[in-house]
Amino acid sequence: MYLMGQRDNMSNITTDFNYKTVEYNQLLNDFKALLKKNNLKFTIQREVILETLYNSDEHLTPESLHNLIQAKFPNLNTGIATVYRTLSLLEESEIVTSLSFGAQGKKYELGAKHHHDHLICTSCGSITEFVDEQIEDRQKKIADALGFKMQDHSMQIYGICKNCQIKE
Ligand SMILES: [Zn+2]
Ligand SMILES: [Zn+2]
Repeated sequence: MYLMGQRDNMSNITTDFNYKTVEYNQLLNDFKALLKKNNLKFTIQREVILETLYNSDEHLTPESLHNLIQAKFPNLNTGIATVYRTLSLLEESEIVTSLSFGAQGKKYELGAKHHHDHLICTSCGSITEFVDEQIEDRQKKIADALGFKMQDHSMQIYGICKNCQIKE
């Protein structure tokens, strides 16, 4: 059985969430259905957007996703506008989720990953994923105590990463 992430033996913090909770073929079928629903054609350009997101463990800006696609499939000439439009569509249907970087825009990742929170470096834009069982538990207790039916949560911690602190 797959263990959820890598456990840090000092604490209950899990920091590796690369495991995908859905098979690629399933996701591709969902994507095809989504395109159909929106009267959009299933094209190879749109498929490589999904595939590249699926195979990346990074949180990607539309520009970095576009660069990856151009490097890997230069002959497809996938336009940046197609990347933007496809990402919005995927986000609306919750196949991908995004993190906001204020003026710098958004970074996207596949939704089909185990729940995790994020540490975001406001200097270099690097992202570290984590889950802390105590924080997860506290949130449930707070919602319960306030009679709130929690469905989901997201937590972003903004600051300066280790590397950027060294550079300063
Ligand atoms: Zn940094
Ligand atoms: Zn993430």
